[in-house]
Amino acid sequence: MSPILARTRRGLGAARGPLAPPVVLVPTMGALHDGHRVLLRRARELAGHQGSVLVSIFVNPLQFGPSEDFGRYPRTLEDDVVVCGEEGTDVVFAPSRAEMYPREQLITVDPGPMGEVLEGEFRPGFFRGVLTVVLKLFELTAPDMAVFGEKDAQQLALVRRLVTDLDLGIGITGVPTVRDPDGLATSSRNRYLSGPERASALALPRALAAGGQTAASGPQEVLKAAGAVLEAAAHTEPPVVTDYLALVDPATFTPVPPGFTGEARLLVAARVGGTRLIDNMPIRLNGNTGEGQPRE
Ligand code: AMP
Repeated sequence: MSPILARTRRGLGAARGPLAPPVVLVPTMGALHDGHRVLLRRARELAGHQGSVLVSIFVNPLQFGPSEDFGRYPRTLEDDVVVCGEEGTDVVFAPSRAEMYPREQLITVDPGPMGEVLEGEFRPGFFRGVLTVVLKLFELTAPDMAVFGEKDAQQLALVRRLVTDLDLGIGITGVPTVRDPDGLATSSRNRYLSGPERASALALPRALAAGGQTAASGPQEVLKAAGAVLEAAAHTEPPVVTDYLALVDPATFTPVPPGFTGEARLLVAARVGGTRLIDNMPIRLNGNTGEGQPRE
């Protein structure tokens, strides 16, 4: 069944009104791939036969820096609506920029200290843009639940805090990272990669896997093993240029101290050619790696 496609607030209002609860929202920027499909399926499961799935598709200018890829970010709405239909989506909300931001956005969401580190440090204003659009989408679509990917682990953690700190009363579900058979996490930006760039980019999941394999030896060993893979990849052609490699507490995104045991998250961000990629993996620091470990 094709979903209803709403391009305006008014169209969304008309489509949202009659939706049976629970309404489950999946916010995306489109160019949908297999990772998004898993989110849509999870949303369908959460909604059940009675409930409804609403997918938003909006490339949010507020979260892109001036030198980033807003202009060339892939936009494939027709194909995306087909994917949504295949995965049982009821309504697709795909507003224009003017529809979403009809006037200058003077009021924005301050992501706090967790939004200033890691992705927030390398992409100033990124999480302010993300949380502002997510809050607007929550208001416009009034969901009972929303689904986000662990691929963007810091974003997921911040959305959870947005909901709790601002008392939004929306259930947030995280979905483990979906990978291509070669280990690369699926991403809309992967289509920017040439063959050789993609081969170099495989250093990201390899670094995570190497870190995971040393989990029993403690945080420093994890970072050393993952760092060695990235160091080698810096000398491949084309090179992998690492922005950060970090092992953090998954609730606060602060680095875990030496000797830490328990659940942590190993995060990497790197550039290959003109493409910036991020990846991460859960790590249990007491001898066992977490689920969802990329293949070596
Ligand atoms: P995006 O369209 O890139 O903004 O992503 C929309 C949602 O899909 C976000 O919650 C992402 O975390 C999630 N997502 C993107 N890629 C993946 C992936 N490979 N595995 C799981 N979730 C993903």
